[in-house]
Amino acid sequence: MSTTVDASVAAHAAYEPVIGLEVHVHLLTATKIFCSCSTRFGAPPNTNVCPVCLGMPGALPVLNRKAVEFATLAAMALNCRINETSIFARKNYFYPDLPKGYQISQYDKPLAEHGFIEVKTSNTEDAGDHRVKKIGITRVHLEEDAGKSLHEGFPDAAEKTALDLNRAGVPLIEIVSEPDIATPDEAYEYLTRLKEIILYTGVSDCNMEEGSLRCDANVSVRPRGQKELGTKAEIKNVNSFRFIREALIYEIARQVEVIESGGTITQETRLYDAHEGRTYSMRSKEQAHDYRYFPEPDLLPLVVDEKWKSEIAKTLPELPEARRARLVKEYGITEYDAQVLTASKALAEQFEAAAKSAKNPKRVANLVQGELMGRLKARGAEIEQSPISMKGVAASADLVEIGAISGKMLKDLYDLSFERNQDFPEIYEAEGRPQQSSDTSSLEKIVDEIVAANPRQLEQYRAGKKTMIGFFVGQVMKASKGQANPQLVNELLTKKLG
Ligand SMILES: [Zn+2]
Repeated sequence: MSTTVDASVAAHAAYEPVIGLEVHVHLLTATKIFCSCSTRFGAPPNTNVCPVCLGMPGALPVLNRKAVEFATLAAMALNCRINETSIFARKNYFYPDLPKGYQISQYDKPLAEHGFIEVKTSNTEDAGDHRVKKIGITRVHLEEDAGKSLHEGFPDAAEKTALDLNRAGVPLIEIVSEPDIATPDEAYEYLTRLKEIILYTGVSDCNMEEGSLRCDANVSVRPRGQKELGTKAEIKNVNSFRFIREALIYEIARQVEVIESGGTITQETRLYDAHEGRTYSMRSKEQAHDYRYFPEPDLLPLVVDEKWKSEIAKTLPELPEARRARLVKEYGITEYDAQVLTASKALAEQFEAAAKSAKNPKRVANLVQGELMGRLKARGAEIEQSPISMKGVAASADLVEIGAISGKMLKDLYDLSFERNQDFPEIYEAEGRPQQSSDTSSLEKIVDEIVAANPRQLEQYRAGKKTMIGFFVGQVMKASKGQANPQLVNELLTKKLG
């Protein structure tokens, strides 16, 4: 992943990129932030609206307690300091999807500040030996979302723009990073970790296709060693982490080229075109908004006191990084295993429940990665769609552990599970609880036959080529159709050949 970036960084070694990210995340409350309208995505246009979120004169906002709790919880997970008192402010601008003519947000007194996310980095200069770097989080604040302008999907769409105000008033948190991000790879890593943490807290589904997570990037370049920041461009409305990374790579190269050819960077907002793989100017600073922020007169200051804060803190779950470290320690699995198994909170929880119930947790981890993930990937399915549950994996792991079935038999049973879309225990029953053969006398017969049929290999073995035993084991397993207990086969062969 990092090769292209490394190449571009090397080519522009004289310049240092400075990147900051602004991420908007929808909170999973049932109702909007200042009224009791539903937040459900996909409802028919303008059905989840009321005088408050339509901005009717005289309608007054009432703050949603759950939105505050979710925002606070997210801010805690991002290592922020929660301000006991924060202030809602009006951000004034005109846009058709903003019925009040202002957005209720927070400005100089946000809900939370001074957080950070740890990311893995290849940029060792910043991170010392640990290859882990702290990216600062300036602030996390609460605000309402705007509505949506629709340009298609209705009869006279060619001439007209329609408005859907269902989204107006859906609670958002805005998470603003410090300009600590030095490469497009770090930006990608920051966003991945951020999304993972938010998902673990359960305050948002972070669904980018539905706009539940949106990201803008600020980027500038400066001669390496220079203290002052260069002029920045803002890249807006990029709808995947991969595109953010590509947009940054493009934008950094563009800015370096402009400066190198004697030009100056204009402060502006740019859009990324994923098809062309380039950014282009949307509006320059002269056209930029002056939002004329002032305190929202219809809302009291928001007070999250110690008592409330500690109640919210109690709902903070174990976060992904801590969970990974614990899994490595508790189950003796590798860091890579832990990474895969904590990719989502649901998977991590299912895995732990299964591993705890199994005789050998490490075998459960190996089966999930080796046998389950591969089959899911081949089918293009997520873990939630797996025919084999984590309980099923644990059951199969125990059967291998006690020697009841061989690894080969397990593979065949897994294949059947996927073919028939049935969990492992059902398949195992349906197949008549197959057992690998530990019947010594019938195995001895097979061993005798195989040894007799391969005199040349026998001669090589007895001449000192001990690795030849692998050949004999393979032949015996094949002759037993994978039903033989490999350990027993090994013992019998060693005796027979020696
Ligand atoms: Zn409403």
